[in-house]
Amino acid sequence: MDFHQLEEGRKFWLGGVEIPFHKGAVGHSDADVLLHAICDALLGALNLGDIGIHFPDTDAACKDIDSKILLEKTFALVRNKNYRIVNIDSTVCLQEPKISPYTKEMRRIIASILEVSVDDISIKATTTEHMGFVGRGEGIVAYASALVESRSAKRP
Ligand SMILES: [Zn+2]
Repeated sequence: MDFHQLEEGRKFWLGGVEIPFHKGAVGHSDADVLLHAICDALLGALNLGDIGIHFPDTDAACKDIDSKILLEKTFALVRNKNYRIVNIDSTVCLQEPKISPYTKEMRRIIASILEVSVDDISIKATTTEHMGFVGRGEGIVAYASALVESRSAKRP
């Protein structure tokens, strides 16, 4: 999972898509909370630590970086371990804007980076019914889980 603060006047990147909105997420990179959550889920599935270890805030090379590049680098780590991705499920928690018009494009982008079919990428969205920092529009949270499969595993 990942979360970021939302701030007026920032670009709002989510799932590799720039969504027109008066606020955007604050972060060292483009602050794409959904792609970060997916990176973290993949790293976790392979016990490779977390996104902060691989792409630290202190790394100048990661400043304002397009998170699609972080996802590509994460996928390279998955491949290096001789795994492939079976599917990804994710949930984005935010009060506004509505992201449903953009999820198809997000799924297309993520699927192409991770070399899976669009049908293997699930993106759900929920508000928090105006409760908490998400409900007040102060932040955005994303959860993701990843199913991976070893390419080298012997079949019984
Ligand atoms: Zn993040």
